Amino acid sequence: MSQQNPRDANFDHESPYSAAPTSATAAMAGGLPTVRLKPRKSRPFYGRHPWVLDSAVESITGLPGDGDAVQLLNEKGKFIATGYYNSQSRIRVRLYSWNPTEALDEAWLAGKIVAAIELRRQLGLLEPSSAARMIFSESDGLSGLIVDRLGDYLAIQVNALAMARRLPQIIPILQRELRPHGIVIKQERGIGPLEGVHLPPETHWGELPAAPLTITEHHIKYAVDLRTGQKTGFYIDQRDNRRAAAKYASGRRVLDMFCYSGGFGLNCLVHGDAQSVLAVDSSAAALHLAGENARLNHTSDWHSQQADAFDHLAGLATGPERFGLVVLDPPKFANKRSAVDEALMAYHRLNRLAVELLEPQGILVTCCCSGHVLREDFLHMLGGVAQRSGRDLQILEQRGAAADHPVSATCLETEYLKCVICRVG
Ligand code: SAH
Repeated sequence: MSQQNPRDANFDHESPYSAAPTSATAAMAGGLPTVRLKPRKSRPFYGRHPWVLDSAVESITGLPGDGDAVQLLNEKGKFIATGYYNSQSRIRVRLYSWNPTEALDEAWLAGKIVAAIELRRQLGLLEPSSAARMIFSESDGLSGLIVDRLGDYLAIQVNALAMARRLPQIIPILQRELRPHGIVIKQERGIGPLEGVHLPPETHWGELPAAPLTITEHHIKYAVDLRTGQKTGFYIDQRDNRRAAAKYASGRRVLDMFCYSGGFGLNCLVHGDAQSVLAVDSSAAALHLAGENARLNHTSDWHSQQADAFDHLAGLATGPERFGLVVLDPPKFANKRSAVDEALMAYHRLNRLAVELLEPQGILVTCCCSGHVLREDFLHMLGGVAQRSGRDLQILEQRGAAADHPVSATCLETEYLKCVICRVG
Protein backbone atom coordinates (compact mmCIF):
# COMPACT_ATOMS: atom_id res chain seq x y z
CA MET A 1 0.00 0.00 0.00
CA SER A 2 1.57 3.29 -1.01
CA GLN A 3 0.94 6.45 0.91
CA GLN A 4 1.92 9.49 -1.06
CA ASN A 5 1.78 13.14 -0.32
CA PRO A 6 1.00 15.14 -3.43
CA ARG A 7 2.81 18.14 -1.99
CA ASP A 8 5.98 16.10 -1.36
CA ALA A 9 8.99 17.67 -3.08
CA ASN A 10 10.39 14.22 -3.85
CA PHE A 11 7.29 13.28 -5.74
CA ASP A 12 8.01 11.23 -8.86
CA HIS A 13 7.50 13.65 -11.72
CA GLU A 14 6.97 10.85 -14.20
CA SER A 15 3.99 9.65 -12.21
CA PRO A 16 0.48 10.73 -13.12
CA TYR A 17 0.44 12.72 -9.89
CA SER A 18 3.19 15.06 -11.05
CA ALA A 19 2.46 18.78 -10.88
CA ALA A 20 -0.23 20.04 -13.20
CA PRO A 21 1.03 21.38 -16.53
CA THR A 22 1.68 25.12 -16.45
CA SER A 23 -0.32 25.87 -19.58
CA ALA A 24 -3.41 24.91 -17.58
CA THR A 25 -2.98 28.14 -15.71
CA ALA A 26 -2.68 30.29 -18.82
CA ALA A 27 -4.77 33.38 -18.21
CA MET A 28 -7.14 33.10 -21.17
CA ALA A 29 -8.06 30.66 -23.87
CA GLY A 30 -6.34 32.91 -26.44
CA GLY A 31 -2.85 31.95 -25.26
CA LEU A 32 -3.40 28.22 -25.45
CA PRO A 33 -2.41 25.67 -28.10
CA THR A 34 -5.26 25.04 -30.52
CA VAL A 35 -7.13 22.03 -31.84
CA ARG A 36 -8.99 22.82 -35.05
CA LEU A 37 -11.98 20.72 -36.11
CA LYS A 38 -12.68 19.28 -39.55
CA PRO A 39 -15.49 20.89 -41.54
CA ARG A 40 -19.01 19.98 -40.34
CA LYS A 41 -17.75 18.53 -37.05
CA SER A 42 -18.44 21.48 -34.76
CA ARG A 43 -22.13 21.11 -34.02
CA PRO A 44 -21.96 18.71 -31.01
CA PHE A 45 -19.40 20.97 -29.32
CA TYR A 46 -21.48 24.12 -29.76
CA GLY A 47 -24.12 21.88 -28.18
CA ARG A 48 -21.75 21.46 -25.20
CA HIS A 49 -20.98 17.80 -25.68
CA PRO A 50 -17.60 17.38 -23.96
CA TRP A 51 -15.88 14.59 -25.96
CA VAL A 52 -13.90 15.55 -29.07
CA LEU A 53 -12.91 12.32 -30.79
CA ASP A 54 -9.65 12.03 -32.73
CA SER A 55 -11.64 11.53 -35.96
CA ALA A 56 -13.09 15.07 -35.70
CA VAL A 57 -9.69 16.79 -35.45
CA GLU A 58 -8.19 18.51 -38.51
CA SER A 59 -5.00 20.04 -37.07
CA ILE A 60 -3.19 20.93 -33.88
CA THR A 61 -0.93 23.90 -33.26
CA GLY A 62 1.27 24.87 -30.32
CA LEU A 63 2.40 21.31 -29.45
CA PRO A 64 0.19 20.62 -26.44
CA GLY A 65 1.42 17.98 -24.02
CA ASP A 66 -0.95 15.31 -22.74
CA GLY A 67 -3.12 16.82 -20.03
CA ASP A 68 -2.46 20.40 -21.19
CA ALA A 69 -5.24 22.93 -21.72
CA VAL A 70 -6.11 23.68 -25.36
CA GLN A 71 -8.71 25.77 -27.14
CA LEU A 72 -11.06 24.08 -29.56
CA LEU A 73 -11.67 25.97 -32.81
CA ASN A 74 -14.16 25.39 -35.61
CA GLU A 75 -12.93 24.85 -39.17
CA LYS A 76 -12.74 28.62 -39.68
CA GLY A 77 -10.59 29.11 -36.58
CA LYS A 78 -13.38 30.47 -34.34
CA PHE A 79 -13.28 29.67 -30.61
CA ILE A 80 -15.74 27.03 -29.37
CA ALA A 81 -14.48 25.84 -25.99
CA THR A 82 -11.47 25.05 -23.83
CA GLY A 83 -10.49 21.58 -22.72
CA TYR A 84 -7.66 19.24 -21.91
CA TYR A 85 -5.69 17.44 -24.59
CA ASN A 86 -4.69 13.75 -24.61
CA SER A 87 -2.88 12.24 -27.60
CA GLN A 88 -3.21 8.77 -26.05
CA SER A 89 -7.00 8.72 -25.95
CA ARG A 90 -9.64 8.46 -28.66
CA ILE A 91 -11.22 11.33 -26.75
CA ARG A 92 -8.52 13.69 -27.99
CA VAL A 93 -9.91 16.68 -26.11
CA ARG A 94 -12.28 16.76 -23.13
CA LEU A 95 -14.10 20.07 -22.94
CA TYR A 96 -14.65 21.91 -19.66
CA SER A 97 -15.52 25.52 -20.48
CA TRP A 98 -17.36 27.36 -23.23
CA ASN A 99 -16.33 30.77 -21.91
CA PRO A 100 -13.28 32.19 -23.74
CA THR A 101 -12.30 34.33 -20.76
CA GLU A 102 -12.29 31.45 -18.27
CA ALA A 103 -8.94 29.78 -17.54
CA LEU A 104 -8.96 26.13 -16.50
CA ASP A 105 -6.88 26.90 -13.44
CA GLU A 106 -7.00 25.90 -9.78
CA ALA A 107 -9.67 28.51 -8.95
CA TRP A 108 -11.87 27.13 -11.73
CA LEU A 109 -11.32 23.57 -10.47
CA ALA A 110 -12.19 24.57 -6.90
CA GLY A 111 -15.32 26.35 -8.14
CA LYS A 112 -16.53 23.23 -9.93
CA ILE A 113 -15.83 20.98 -6.95
CA VAL A 114 -17.53 23.34 -4.49
CA ALA A 115 -20.60 23.63 -6.77
CA ALA A 116 -20.84 19.85 -7.00
CA ILE A 117 -20.63 19.46 -3.22
CA GLU A 118 -23.21 22.22 -2.75
CA LEU A 119 -25.73 20.20 -4.77
CA ARG A 120 -25.24 17.19 -2.48
CA ARG A 121 -25.68 19.48 0.51
CA GLN A 122 -29.03 20.61 -0.93
CA LEU A 123 -29.98 16.98 -1.46
CA GLY A 124 -29.26 16.29 2.22
CA LEU A 125 -26.51 13.86 1.31
CA LEU A 126 -23.68 15.14 3.49
CA GLU A 127 -24.72 13.11 6.56
CA PRO A 128 -21.45 11.74 7.96
CA SER A 129 -22.62 8.12 8.17
CA SER A 130 -24.16 7.97 4.70
CA ALA A 131 -22.74 7.27 1.25
CA ALA A 132 -23.19 9.59 -1.72
CA ARG A 133 -21.54 10.59 -4.97
CA MET A 134 -19.98 14.01 -4.53
CA ILE A 135 -18.74 14.49 -8.11
CA PHE A 136 -20.10 12.72 -11.18
CA SER A 137 -17.80 13.43 -14.10
CA GLU A 138 -19.48 15.17 -17.08
CA SER A 139 -22.66 15.72 -15.05
CA ASP A 140 -20.72 18.06 -12.75
CA GLY A 141 -18.63 19.59 -15.54
CA LEU A 142 -15.57 17.54 -14.55
CA SER A 143 -15.26 14.91 -17.26
CA GLY A 144 -13.18 11.98 -16.03
CA LEU A 145 -13.49 12.61 -12.28
CA ILE A 146 -15.73 10.66 -9.92
CA VAL A 147 -15.70 11.16 -6.16
CA ASP A 148 -17.78 9.05 -3.80
CA ARG A 149 -18.06 9.72 -0.08
CA LEU A 150 -18.44 6.60 2.05
CA GLY A 151 -18.86 7.72 5.64
CA ASP A 152 -15.69 9.58 6.64
CA TYR A 153 -13.74 8.42 3.58
CA LEU A 154 -13.55 9.36 -0.07
CA ALA A 155 -13.06 7.04 -3.03
CA ILE A 156 -11.87 8.78 -6.20
CA GLN A 157 -12.01 7.31 -9.69
CA VAL A 158 -9.95 9.06 -12.32
CA ASN A 159 -10.98 8.10 -15.83
CA ALA A 160 -9.10 10.84 -17.69
CA LEU A 161 -5.40 11.61 -17.82
CA ALA A 162 -6.00 15.33 -17.25
CA MET A 163 -7.79 14.58 -13.99
CA ALA A 164 -5.08 12.14 -12.86
CA ARG A 165 -2.51 14.90 -13.47
CA ARG A 166 -4.54 17.32 -11.40
CA LEU A 167 -4.93 15.07 -8.35
CA PRO A 168 -2.35 17.19 -6.49
CA GLN A 169 -4.76 20.13 -6.85
CA ILE A 170 -7.99 18.16 -6.48
CA ILE A 171 -7.10 16.36 -3.26
CA PRO A 172 -6.37 19.45 -1.12
CA ILE A 173 -9.66 21.01 -2.30
CA LEU A 174 -11.57 17.86 -1.31
CA GLN A 175 -9.73 17.75 2.01
CA ARG A 176 -10.64 21.35 2.71
CA GLU A 177 -14.30 21.00 1.72
CA LEU A 178 -15.15 17.56 3.07
CA ARG A 179 -12.50 16.83 5.75
CA PRO A 180 -12.28 13.08 5.06
CA HIS A 181 -10.21 10.80 7.30
CA GLY A 182 -8.71 9.23 4.21
CA ILE A 183 -8.93 9.05 0.44
CA VAL A 184 -8.46 6.02 -1.78
CA ILE A 185 -7.83 6.28 -5.53
CA LYS A 186 -9.44 3.70 -7.80
CA GLN A 187 -9.50 3.21 -11.52
CA GLU A 188 -12.26 1.67 -13.60
CA ARG A 189 -11.09 -1.57 -15.13
CA GLY A 190 -9.88 -1.13 -18.72
CA ILE A 191 -9.61 2.68 -18.54
CA GLY A 192 -5.83 2.78 -17.99
CA PRO A 193 -4.77 1.78 -21.49
CA LEU A 194 -7.61 3.80 -23.11
CA GLU A 195 -6.51 7.04 -21.46
CA GLY A 196 -2.82 6.44 -20.80
CA VAL A 197 -3.42 6.65 -17.05
CA HIS A 198 -1.24 4.29 -15.07
CA LEU A 199 -1.91 4.71 -11.38
CA PRO A 200 0.05 2.74 -8.82
CA PRO A 201 -2.33 0.14 -7.34
CA GLU A 202 -4.04 0.95 -4.06
CA THR A 203 -2.91 4.54 -3.64
CA HIS A 204 -4.35 6.49 -0.79
CA TRP A 205 -3.94 9.63 1.25
CA GLY A 206 -4.42 9.89 4.99
CA GLU A 207 -5.72 7.02 7.08
CA LEU A 208 -7.66 4.09 5.71
CA PRO A 209 -9.73 2.00 8.12
CA ALA A 210 -8.15 -1.31 9.11
CA ALA A 211 -11.51 -3.08 8.94
CA PRO A 212 -14.49 -2.50 6.65
CA LEU A 213 -16.33 0.66 7.65
CA THR A 214 -20.06 0.87 8.22
CA ILE A 215 -22.36 3.24 6.39
CA THR A 216 -26.11 3.77 6.77
CA GLU A 217 -28.57 4.12 3.90
CA HIS A 218 -32.34 4.29 4.42
CA HIS A 219 -31.74 3.20 8.03
CA ILE A 220 -29.96 0.03 6.90
CA LYS A 221 -26.32 -0.56 7.85
CA TYR A 222 -23.77 -1.81 5.33
CA ALA A 223 -20.17 -2.88 5.74
CA VAL A 224 -18.06 -1.32 2.98
CA ASP A 225 -14.55 -2.41 2.18
CA LEU A 226 -12.82 0.53 0.57
CA ARG A 227 -9.79 -1.43 -0.51
CA THR A 228 -11.22 -4.57 -2.03
CA GLY A 229 -14.83 -3.58 -2.71
CA GLN A 230 -16.24 -3.48 -6.24
CA LYS A 231 -16.51 -0.12 -8.00
CA THR A 232 -15.76 2.53 -5.34
CA GLY A 233 -16.92 0.07 -2.65
CA PHE A 234 -20.69 0.39 -2.76
CA TYR A 235 -23.33 0.77 -5.49
CA ILE A 236 -24.51 4.19 -4.39
CA ASP A 237 -26.49 4.83 -7.57
CA GLN A 238 -29.16 2.26 -6.63
CA ARG A 239 -29.93 3.89 -3.25
CA ASP A 240 -33.48 4.98 -4.02
CA ASN A 241 -34.28 2.05 -6.33
CA ARG A 242 -33.51 -0.36 -3.50
CA ARG A 243 -35.97 1.54 -1.30
CA ALA A 244 -38.57 1.71 -4.10
CA ALA A 245 -38.42 -2.07 -4.63
CA ALA A 246 -39.32 -2.60 -0.97
CA LYS A 247 -42.77 -1.00 -1.50
CA TYR A 248 -43.83 -4.08 -3.46
CA ALA A 249 -42.29 -6.74 -1.25
CA SER A 250 -44.88 -7.22 1.49
CA GLY A 251 -45.42 -10.91 2.23
CA ARG A 252 -43.47 -11.94 -0.89
CA ARG A 253 -40.62 -14.33 -1.40
CA VAL A 254 -37.83 -12.24 -2.94
CA LEU A 255 -35.07 -13.35 -5.30
CA ASP A 256 -32.22 -10.78 -5.24
CA MET A 257 -30.18 -11.70 -8.31
CA PHE A 258 -26.71 -10.08 -8.61
CA CYS A 259 -27.03 -9.06 -4.96
CA TYR A 260 -23.48 -7.74 -4.23
CA SER A 261 -23.76 -6.36 -0.67
CA GLY A 262 -27.45 -7.32 -0.49
CA GLY A 263 -29.09 -3.89 -0.67
CA PHE A 264 -32.24 -4.80 -2.61
CA GLY A 265 -32.99 -7.85 -0.47
CA LEU A 266 -32.26 -6.01 2.77
CA ASN A 267 -34.63 -3.16 1.88
CA CYS A 268 -37.33 -5.73 1.04
CA LEU A 269 -36.92 -7.33 4.48
CA VAL A 270 -36.41 -4.20 6.60
CA HIS A 271 -38.81 -1.78 4.90
CA GLY A 272 -41.00 -4.08 2.82
CA ASP A 273 -41.89 -6.86 5.23
CA ALA A 274 -40.90 -9.50 2.71
CA GLN A 275 -41.39 -13.13 3.70
CA SER A 276 -37.84 -14.22 2.78
CA VAL A 277 -34.89 -13.34 0.54
CA LEU A 278 -32.71 -15.57 -1.61
CA ALA A 279 -29.61 -13.55 -2.57
CA VAL A 280 -27.50 -14.81 -5.48
CA ASP A 281 -24.14 -13.61 -6.77
CA SER A 282 -21.24 -15.26 -8.57
CA SER A 283 -18.74 -13.66 -6.19
CA ALA A 284 -18.01 -15.40 -2.87
CA ALA A 285 -16.66 -12.11 -1.45
CA ALA A 286 -19.90 -10.30 -2.35
CA LEU A 287 -22.01 -13.01 -0.70
CA HIS A 288 -19.85 -12.87 2.41
CA LEU A 289 -20.42 -9.10 2.59
CA ALA A 290 -24.17 -9.53 1.99
CA GLY A 291 -24.36 -12.15 4.77
CA GLU A 292 -22.50 -9.82 7.16
CA ASN A 293 -24.95 -7.05 6.29
CA ALA A 294 -27.94 -9.32 6.91
CA ARG A 295 -26.51 -10.06 10.37
CA LEU A 296 -25.70 -6.40 11.02
CA ASN A 297 -29.37 -5.54 10.45
CA HIS A 298 -30.71 -8.52 12.43
CA THR A 299 -32.78 -9.83 9.54
CA SER A 300 -34.18 -13.33 9.49
CA ASP A 301 -35.04 -15.45 6.47
CA TRP A 302 -31.94 -14.41 4.58
CA HIS A 303 -30.60 -17.15 2.32
CA SER A 304 -27.77 -16.95 -0.17
CA GLN A 305 -26.34 -18.94 -3.01
CA GLN A 306 -23.11 -18.53 -4.99
CA ALA A 307 -23.94 -19.17 -8.63
CA ASP A 308 -23.90 -17.84 -12.15
CA ALA A 309 -27.18 -15.99 -12.59
CA PHE A 310 -28.08 -17.47 -15.97
CA ASP A 311 -27.42 -21.05 -14.81
CA HIS A 312 -29.17 -20.56 -11.50
CA LEU A 313 -32.28 -18.97 -13.02
CA ALA A 314 -32.48 -21.74 -15.62
CA GLY A 315 -32.12 -24.36 -12.85
CA LEU A 316 -34.81 -22.73 -10.70
CA ALA A 317 -37.16 -22.51 -13.68
CA THR A 318 -37.19 -26.31 -13.99
CA GLY A 319 -38.19 -26.69 -10.31
CA PRO A 320 -41.42 -25.85 -8.47
CA GLU A 321 -40.15 -22.85 -6.47
CA ARG A 322 -41.67 -19.49 -7.46
CA PHE A 323 -41.10 -15.93 -6.21
CA GLY A 324 -43.30 -12.90 -5.63
CA LEU A 325 -40.56 -10.40 -6.47
CA VAL A 326 -37.40 -10.83 -8.54
CA VAL A 327 -34.61 -8.24 -8.74
CA LEU A 328 -32.17 -8.33 -11.65
CA ASP A 329 -29.21 -5.97 -11.24
CA PRO A 330 -26.52 -7.37 -13.54
CA PRO A 331 -23.14 -5.77 -14.29
CA LYS A 332 -22.62 -3.78 -17.49
CA PHE A 333 -23.22 -6.06 -20.50
CA ALA A 334 -22.19 -3.57 -23.23
CA ASN A 335 -18.86 -1.78 -22.94
CA LYS A 336 -19.08 -0.35 -26.45
CA ARG A 337 -21.78 0.53 -28.94
CA SER A 338 -21.03 -2.48 -31.13
CA ALA A 339 -21.84 -4.77 -28.20
CA VAL A 340 -25.39 -3.45 -27.73
CA ASP A 341 -27.24 -6.10 -29.78
CA GLU A 342 -25.52 -8.92 -27.97
CA ALA A 343 -26.18 -7.21 -24.63
CA LEU A 344 -29.89 -6.85 -25.44
CA MET A 345 -30.06 -10.58 -26.19
CA ALA A 346 -28.47 -11.31 -22.80
CA TYR A 347 -30.94 -8.94 -21.06
CA HIS A 348 -33.76 -10.71 -22.89
CA ARG A 349 -32.61 -14.14 -21.77
CA LEU A 350 -32.20 -13.00 -18.18
CA ASN A 351 -35.55 -11.25 -17.96
CA ARG A 352 -37.35 -14.08 -19.71
CA LEU A 353 -36.02 -16.52 -17.11
CA ALA A 354 -36.96 -14.16 -14.27
CA VAL A 355 -40.52 -13.83 -15.59
CA GLU A 356 -40.84 -17.63 -15.62
CA LEU A 357 -39.98 -17.69 -11.94
CA LEU A 358 -42.58 -15.09 -10.97
CA GLU A 359 -45.96 -15.98 -9.54
CA PRO A 360 -48.94 -14.42 -11.33
CA GLN A 361 -49.05 -10.68 -10.52
CA GLY A 362 -45.45 -10.90 -9.36
CA ILE A 363 -43.06 -7.93 -9.40
CA LEU A 364 -39.98 -7.68 -11.59
CA VAL A 365 -37.37 -5.06 -10.68
CA THR A 366 -35.04 -5.08 -13.64
CA CYS A 367 -31.95 -2.91 -14.04
CA CYS A 368 -29.50 -2.04 -16.77
CA CYS A 369 -26.33 -0.07 -16.09
CA SER A 370 -24.95 -0.23 -19.65
CA GLY A 371 -24.89 3.38 -20.86
CA HIS A 372 -24.82 2.25 -24.48
CA VAL A 373 -28.16 0.48 -24.09
CA LEU A 374 -30.75 3.23 -24.36
CA ARG A 375 -33.83 3.27 -22.15
CA GLU A 376 -36.07 2.86 -25.18
CA ASP A 377 -34.17 -0.23 -26.34
CA PHE A 378 -34.37 -1.69 -22.85
CA LEU A 379 -38.15 -1.15 -22.82
CA HIS A 380 -38.44 -2.77 -26.26
CA MET A 381 -36.50 -5.71 -24.91
CA LEU A 382 -39.07 -6.02 -22.11
CA GLY A 383 -41.83 -5.90 -24.73
CA GLY A 384 -40.15 -8.85 -26.41
CA VAL A 385 -40.11 -10.71 -23.09
CA ALA A 386 -43.86 -10.11 -22.67
CA GLN A 387 -44.48 -11.37 -26.19
CA ARG A 388 -42.36 -14.51 -25.86
CA SER A 389 -43.57 -15.42 -22.39
CA GLY A 390 -47.22 -14.62 -23.08
CA ARG A 391 -47.37 -12.65 -19.80
CA ASP A 392 -48.53 -9.05 -19.50
CA LEU A 393 -45.87 -6.64 -18.32
CA GLN A 394 -47.22 -3.46 -16.74
CA ILE A 395 -44.51 -0.89 -16.18
CA LEU A 396 -45.17 0.68 -12.80
CA GLU A 397 -42.04 2.78 -12.39
CA GLN A 398 -39.28 3.88 -14.73
CA ARG A 399 -36.39 4.93 -12.59
CA GLY A 400 -32.80 6.03 -12.98
CA ALA A 401 -29.88 6.74 -10.69
CA ALA A 402 -30.39 8.85 -7.58
CA ALA A 403 -30.06 12.66 -7.81
CA ASP A 404 -26.42 12.65 -6.69
CA HIS A 405 -25.79 11.08 -10.13
CA PRO A 406 -27.37 13.87 -12.20
CA VAL A 407 -27.79 13.52 -15.95
CA SER A 408 -26.12 16.17 -18.09
CA ALA A 409 -28.60 17.41 -20.69
CA THR A 410 -25.72 17.93 -23.10
CA CYS A 411 -24.04 14.55 -22.47
CA LEU A 412 -26.83 12.01 -22.34
CA GLU A 413 -24.28 9.23 -21.96
CA THR A 414 -24.44 10.18 -18.27
CA GLU A 415 -27.90 8.58 -18.13
CA TYR A 416 -26.58 5.06 -17.81
CA LEU A 417 -28.76 3.43 -15.15
CA LYS A 418 -32.25 2.18 -15.90
CA CYS A 419 -34.41 0.52 -13.23
CA VAL A 420 -37.82 -0.60 -14.39
CA ILE A 421 -40.38 -1.98 -11.95
CA CYS A 422 -43.12 -4.06 -13.59
CA ARG A 423 -46.03 -6.20 -12.57
CA VAL A 424 -46.04 -9.47 -14.46
CA GLY A 425 -49.50 -10.91 -15.05
N1 SAH B 1 -27.55 -5.16 -6.59
C1 SAH B 1 -26.29 -4.76 -6.04
C2 SAH B 1 -25.26 -4.37 -7.09
C3 SAH B 1 -24.98 -5.44 -8.12
S1 SAH B 1 -23.52 -5.21 -9.01
C4 SAH B 1 -26.50 -3.61 -5.05
O1 SAH B 1 -27.60 -3.08 -4.94
O2 SAH B 1 -25.53 -3.28 -4.36
C5 SAH B 1 -23.46 -6.64 -10.00
C6 SAH B 1 -23.13 -7.92 -9.26
O3 SAH B 1 -23.23 -8.99 -10.20
C7 SAH B 1 -21.72 -8.02 -8.69
O4 SAH B 1 -21.80 -8.29 -7.31
C8 SAH B 1 -21.08 -9.23 -9.42
O5 SAH B 1 -20.27 -10.01 -8.56
C9 SAH B 1 -22.30 -10.00 -9.87
N2 SAH B 1 -22.14 -10.83 -11.07
C10 SAH B 1 -21.45 -10.55 -12.19
N3 SAH B 1 -21.65 -11.52 -13.11
C11 SAH B 1 -22.49 -12.44 -12.55
C12 SAH B 1 -23.08 -13.65 -13.01
N4 SAH B 1 -22.85 -14.12 -14.24
N5 SAH B 1 -23.89 -14.31 -12.17
C13 SAH B 1 -24.15 -13.84 -10.93
N6 SAH B 1 -23.62 -12.69 -10.45
C14 SAH B 1 -22.81 -12.00 -11.25
